[in-house]
Amino acid sequence: MVKFQKQNLENLVKDSDFLDNITASNPVFWLNDKKKDRSSGEEFSFDQVIEAEKRLERFASYLKIAFPETKNSMGIIESELKEIPDMKKWIEENIDEDFPGKLLLKCDYALPISGSIKARGGIYEVLKYAEQLAIEHNLIDYDDDYAKFNDDTFYRFFRGYKIAVGSTGNLGLSIGIMGAKLGFQVTVHMSSDAKEWKKQLLREKGVKVIEYSSDYSKAVEEGRNQAATDPRCHFVDDENSQALFAGYAVAALSLEKQLHDANIYVDAAHPLFVYLPCGVGGGPGGVAYGLKKIYGDNVHLFFGEPTQSPCMLLGMMTGLHDEISVTDIGLTNQTEADGLAVGRASKFVGKLMEPILSGCYTVEDSFLFNSIRAMWNREHIFMEPSAHAAVFGPISLFKQGKSYYIEQNDLQMKNATHLIWSTGGNMVPEEQRREFLKKML
Ligand SMILES: *Cc1c(COP(=O)(O)O)cnc(C)c1O
Repeated sequence: MVKFQKQNLENLVKDSDFLDNITASNPVFWLNDKKKDRSSGEEFSFDQVIEAEKRLERFASYLKIAFPETKNSMGIIESELKEIPDMKKWIEENIDEDFPGKLLLKCDYALPISGSIKARGGIYEVLKYAEQLAIEHNLIDYDDDYAKFNDDTFYRFFRGYKIAVGSTGNLGLSIGIMGAKLGFQVTVHMSSDAKEWKKQLLREKGVKVIEYSSDYSKAVEEGRNQAATDPRCHFVDDENSQALFAGYAVAALSLEKQLHDANIYVDAAHPLFVYLPCGVGGGPGGVAYGLKKIYGDNVHLFFGEPTQSPCMLLGMMTGLHDEISVTDIGLTNQTEADGLAVGRASKFVGKLMEPILSGCYTVEDSFLFNSIRAMWNREHIFMEPSAHAAVFGPISLFKQGKSYYIEQNDLQMKNATHLIWSTGGNMVPEEQRREFLKKML
């Protein structure tokens, strides 16, 4: 049912041609006119991000033992930052002009433990819950060595508790892998978009997977309802959780260090552009929030969404946030970018993004597969379809947004840094990779 008649929406959206382009699922570039020059601070406090960073440091000695792949990073879940000059050439071929400045990739596709950006927020929220229970039951003190979490007594204790989550796949993987390792009984409510291999991997780890024939919003709602009746069950609320958001935002603190170590400046003469794939909003929103706090006006943040699932764009543009779904305007919410197959955005995140985000753009699925091949052939990096929504960011900015954003803000592009935030891919099995690399739409 189309709930919002076009006429009603036109009162909220100034440019009706623009709305027509969205409903026709054409790629669009939207600038956020609610952006002010200050960062927001109302509902969420930066203290929570600092607290999250400290909590993750406390858990490092445990993670190092529980997940040996984090040994090199001393138990810290972090990814590399690297230049991708050959991909830059591909982008230049796509925009048909020189692309000034540097092009960097933030390699969250290779984050340890669960191979996606969800390893930040998701794992953080599980650890936070585990710590809270352990403190309440006098199993641990804040100054203890958290390697103790690896003991059998902890595992047996956590067996008495449950964690539930609704997911399109990757959040379920992160929560499931981390939760099961600690001993929790984890239930993941999976939307119809979730890939088979993700469900299988979770079942192998002893996680209960419940499948829905409906989309993400329904899976979250079911999970929330089922968890609500059980006091021993913690529900990881992807639409509203401040803990998840804080876990994602810690990424900004590490990025600041990485940029500094690489002698890359961010100031008025050296603008930083960051392109983030957006689903419900928590992951990209947390990162964007943190970066805005650090870099203020010198960072320019853009979210990328599939042309069939532009929920954040629609929610922010209309100001309706979670009161409007992409299906209300006749879109399908069907996309190969499973991590972005979200029809209704988080209101909590959308509101926080109003003074922060520069804009949103949409990308066609066919681009995602071309980009998968280009990234593989030129840089030998495999990223899943969702992550490639970030690659389209600089292309969309140059092709559709340059005149009114860069020129209006008088930005010095020659010294700019463009950062593609790669959100997932490392866990994708070999066979599925080969299919993706062949796929032409
Ligand atoms: C979940 C996900 C995103 C988007 O994160 P949200 O918090 O849903 O906005 C982007 N890319 C990948 C690979 C994801 O799994």
